[in-house]
Amino acid sequence: KDLVLSGVQPSGNLTLGNYLGALKQWHSMQELYDCYYCIVDLHAITVRQNPKELHNSTLNALALCLALGIDPSKSTLFIQSHVKEHTELAWILNCYTQVGELNRMTQFKDKSAKNSDNINCGLYSYPVLMAADILLYQANQVPVGADQKQHLELSRNIAIRMNNLYGELFQVPNPFIPQKGAKVMSLQDPLRKMSKSDENKNNIIHILDEPKSIVKKIKKSVTDSDNPPNIFYDEQNKPGVSNLLTIFAGVTNKSVSDLEIEYQNKMYGQLKTDTADAVIAFLEPIQKEYLKVREDIEFLNNVMKEGSEKASSKAQHTVHKVKKALGFVV
Ligand code: ATP
Ligand code: MG
Repeated sequence: KDLVLSGVQPSGNLTLGNYLGALKQWHSMQELYDCYYCIVDLHAITVRQNPKELHNSTLNALALCLALGIDPSKSTLFIQSHVKEHTELAWILNCYTQVGELNRMTQFKDKSAKNSDNINCGLYSYPVLMAADILLYQANQVPVGADQKQHLELSRNIAIRMNNLYGELFQVPNPFIPQKGAKVMSLQDPLRKMSKSDENKNNIIHILDEPKSIVKKIKKSVTDSDNPPNIFYDEQNKPGVSNLLTIFAGVTNKSVSDLEIEYQNKMYGQLKTDTADAVIAFLEPIQKEYLKVREDIEFLNNVMKEGSEKASSKAQHTVHKVKKALGFVV
């Protein structure tokens, strides 16, 4: 059985991008594979977080995973910082990662441009911690959005490098990037990806947004000034319209080509109204379930406890093997 690992940062409230790019796959994969899903709080502090908000966002993210159908009896769901081996292996992997490799990471460049007053070492070695997350569990499938492809490539290279030096220490992981929804774009600036940490909330649809706010944000979204309006998928020339089509298709069982036919002679306003309605209809049952789960602290505590126990035993095994291979006295 393949082993799957993926994570999401509690760096804010989860977005439709996180869902379409990653969590939608988490859900379908749990039926087929041995899945490990984590809320990666250690990653979140690479950007300054308010402690109270971080605490809250971590529990929110956990509850949202459960509301989206991640079933703790099928998948191992846990909080990254509860399994100390993530940090332990990350340090070791740091010593097998070249500065030149990290210098090429585009996420570091983007995030350090946005947080120019806090370009810390953690932000720089973020991809190494991510490699540790994956390699600890000997995962071979990693469902992520397209923005994480470069980081995954680095994880593969680190695994291959260490296997060459010390024998088969790690499974070499493969990215699992969905065909559609791998890169949901910002509503106001459709050349950039939608990010939960974006300060302009008009760029983002949160999974927990109220219907009113979803309508408002989608109405305000940037399309283009083609005259007459023309609704078809063309990422390069029509990024705004293409993004709405991706979102619309992602939350319904319609395909983008179905929608292109349906909206051939329609106006952008119509596309926006209908996209908003589809998003609201899709999110309604998830939001209801979330409210129930989030209140049940005892249940959340049990999920976290069981998840971290299961994850720890797997993680300890890998760290032991690595330390022994490197010559540590174990
Ligand atoms: P942050 O802005 O704090 O980095 P984020 O929205 O990028 O937040 P992450 O926690 O970094 O979210 O990523 C969680 C998962 O969601 C990853 O697999 C990532 O590839 C995916 N993802 C993030 N943004 C998008 C997007 N716009 N479209 C599709 N997938 C996305
Ligand atoms: Mg991100």
